[in-house]
Amino acid sequence: MSQPPPTSAFAPTPDPLTPDRDITHAHFQPGDTVVVLKGISGGELWGDAMRVVAPSWHTPTDEDGWRLRDSTGGTQSYVTGHPRYLVHLSRRCPDCLIYLRAMEDALLLRYADRNELIDCGWYTITALNQLLHIADIQGSR
Ligand SMILES: [Zn+2]
Repeated sequence: MSQPPPTSAFAPTPDPLTPDRDITHAHFQPGDTVVVLKGISGGELWGDAMRVVAPSWHTPTDEDGWRLRDSTGGTQSYVTGHPRYLVHLSRRCPDCLIYLRAMEDALLLRYADRNELIDCGWYTITALNQLLHIADIQGSR
């Protein structure tokens, strides 16, 4: 399945929180299991589960990122993401839970009457396998 090309007609649901999320690079470490939230499915948040592999430079934002392994990613099994894209799955982490709850509050109500999988279109992967949030493509807003 190929990604729809980004066009001016493509208007994703705004991501209410991720672009302004304040989380440090050191919040994560190799071996952590994380999820990158991408939308809603069946009334719950939906995303890609990944494993944190190693520190890696996130070129699009020019900041420290993490190399991630997506076991279902096929040819894009390894991508580099910014720390603010990641949410801990492997441990009960208060910081990540607050973010998760806030995302739920913002999105679940909006899609309360929808049962299908909704990809909010926040992320793309660059030719250099960098995971990139749409807010970071547009640069300074
Ligand atoms: Zn966390």
